[in-house]
Amino acid sequence: MQQEFFAKDEAAMEQFGAELLRAMQHQGVVNLVGDLGMGKTTLSRGVIRAAGHQGTVKSPTYTLVEPYEQGSGTIYHFDLYRLMDPEELEYMGIRDYFTDSSLCLIEWPDKGEGLLPKADLEILLDLSGEGRSIRWKAKTQKGKAAADSLSQ
Ligand code: ADP
Ligand code: MG
Repeated sequence: MQQEFFAKDEAAMEQFGAELLRAMQHQGVVNLVGDLGMGKTTLSRGVIRAAGHQGTVKSPTYTLVEPYEQGSGTIYHFDLYRLMDPEELEYMGIRDYFTDSSLCLIEWPDKGEGLLPKADLEILLDLSGEGRSIRWKAKTQKGKAAADSLSQ
């Protein structure tokens, strides 16, 4: 089964975000893995816009997390690049973000290792010519359903 998609430009990346939102059924935990500039924020923007948000979506580099209300719950967009110590997540009350009605998108999840819950799906972004390759790996049963849906 195909577990990879080629996004030729920013618009294709955002479009994949819409697919991801649907595949996750607006809920769960998605780790976004890839170096600076690989499109993690662009993909997140695609998810958040597909959920109905019309304003800007910037990486919450300094605030670490940005909430976006959607009809059925909240999308939390994390950027942990500047997290110095995973313990900081404890002070943020990290557990409260991961609920049955939230979708958490996490840039730089490795910075929060040990304190973040297990992701359902891991998305790996890489350069591919002028565009980006997007690969995905399921980590839970829910993630497997999402991965299967993305692969169709
Ligand atoms: P990250 O959050 O991983 O650091 P960004 O989402 O900020 O990356 O994107 C970095 C740059 O890459 C932006 O200029 C964006 O427009 C561009 N970009 C995103 N996705 C693609 C793509 N599929 N093909 C080409 N350029 C892209
Ligand atoms: Mg980013």
